[in-house]
Amino acid sequence: MSISTASTITLDNHFARHLPEMGMPWQAAELSEPQLLVLNEQLSSDLGLNAAVLRSAEGIELLTGNRVPAGATPVAQAYAGHQFGGYSPRLGDGRALLLGEITGPDGSLRDIHLKGSGRTPFARGGDGLAAVGPMLREYIVSEGMSAMGIPTTRSLAVTATGRPVQREELLPGAVLTRVAASHLRVGTFQYARATGDLELLRRVADYAIARHFPHLAKAPRPYPALLESVIEVQASLVAQWMLIGFVHGVMNTDNMTISGETIDYGPCAFMDSFNPSSVYSSIDTMGRYAYANQPLAAQWNLTRFAETLLPLLHENQDDAVALAEEALNRFPARYSEAWSAGMGRKLGLADGVDASELAGKLLTLLEEDRVDYTSFLRSLSSAARGNAEPARAFFMDTARFDSWLGEWHALNPSAEQMDKVNPIYVPRNHLVEEALAAASDGDLAPLETLLAAVTAPFEERSGFERYALGAPDDFGSYRTFCGT
Ligand code: AMP
Ligand code: MG
Repeated sequence: MSISTASTITLDNHFARHLPEMGMPWQAAELSEPQLLVLNEQLSSDLGLNAAVLRSAEGIELLTGNRVPAGATPVAQAYAGHQFGGYSPRLGDGRALLLGEITGPDGSLRDIHLKGSGRTPFARGGDGLAAVGPMLREYIVSEGMSAMGIPTTRSLAVTATGRPVQREELLPGAVLTRVAASHLRVGTFQYARATGDLELLRRVADYAIARHFPHLAKAPRPYPALLESVIEVQASLVAQWMLIGFVHGVMNTDNMTISGETIDYGPCAFMDSFNPSSVYSSIDTMGRYAYANQPLAAQWNLTRFAETLLPLLHENQDDAVALAEEALNRFPARYSEAWSAGMGRKLGLADGVDASELAGKLLTLLEEDRVDYTSFLRSLSSAARGNAEPARAFFMDTARFDSWLGEWHALNPSAEQMDKVNPIYVPRNHLVEEALAAASDGDLAPLETLLAAVTAPFEERSGFERYALGAPDDFGSYRTFCGT
């Protein structure tokens, strides 16, 4: 039996080896006094990594890119992207690195990636750094999302760098160690296409197929199938966001994955009271990425993705455009199906019962009375068990809600099914902010309690009562800043 130490951990350089044109070998900034703030022990063990080893001085060097494991070739990945509709031909990892890949529990590769690891050739005017607050925020929200069963990148660790970062004020710096099915983005394809090198584009597409949709490699037309598959996984993903009241906040094409995982938690948030025009990002002044616009924003991004693939879809470009349009036109139906099926489960309805009309009526009532979305849906299982009072208490207009309840009850909802899909604890803004404020004062206890709540989101537990509540009235209208 081999002894597990940091020096026995190896990583693949799969991306660097297969797509050298799509990144630049680079190294993380050296840290003299790194301090591990949080380590995801469950994820470590799922990846076959020994948590005790990761906590050691050498392990922390590994988690921050200061020790390059055998086999790895860390790279800053190249990508382009549309940001708020405007195209940037060269974004790329300005403050991030792909360290390498590890084999996940299902046998497929997982990226080990750093965020906040120093300037790279893609940094443009940026400092290459990240602050403790936003990195812990990504850790909390991504782990909450994962626990709810929503496809997402994961967070393995946050390490304080011991170095200050200049934002609106001076903040402590951090590195997030992120794990993902891959970091291939719509923007990756935009970059490859813009090189004009169609063989490179084809290799990027083949690489995406191999990593995420290996069954397509032998399809008669693998590239149209790739487009359809990405449309499918994104329609399903955005439906899941909508069902839990999640607002991503920066749905730029560089923040949309090919794998269908949620990526890049910046100015994201969970809605408290149900409001389709919810926006939390201070820079999204037009509400481009507001809650209700997310399906449209996703379809817009997928259209940019389809454009990059045109040369691969068909030899004849008119036929290629027709194929792309046909695939894109299926997005609204795929999205609606995923949403309706999910809503059916949230309302405890049997498979096959079309929930959309009943859900639509309910959402109108929630919006009119500014009802807390998460708390209300969780309370509705009591109504299925015969006590409607907790749910009724959310409404001013109980007459209309009672009429809705009557219609819903007639469908025989299952309370057990509802409690499995309606979370009681989500990373609400006021709780996240509270945990981050304490952590920046050196107190990690609120962070740990919040993580305990949101990583078992469906399991009601005593001692966590306040984690189930909506924002206090004085929390005001919440904004997160992109200066992350
Ligand atoms: P984001 O808004 O985090 O998705 O980042 C958009 C682009 O800006 C990406 O190319 C990032 O690598 C880059 N970027 C964001 N913050 C920084 C920073 N502090 N230093 C360098 N590049 C950054
Ligand atoms: Mg990004």
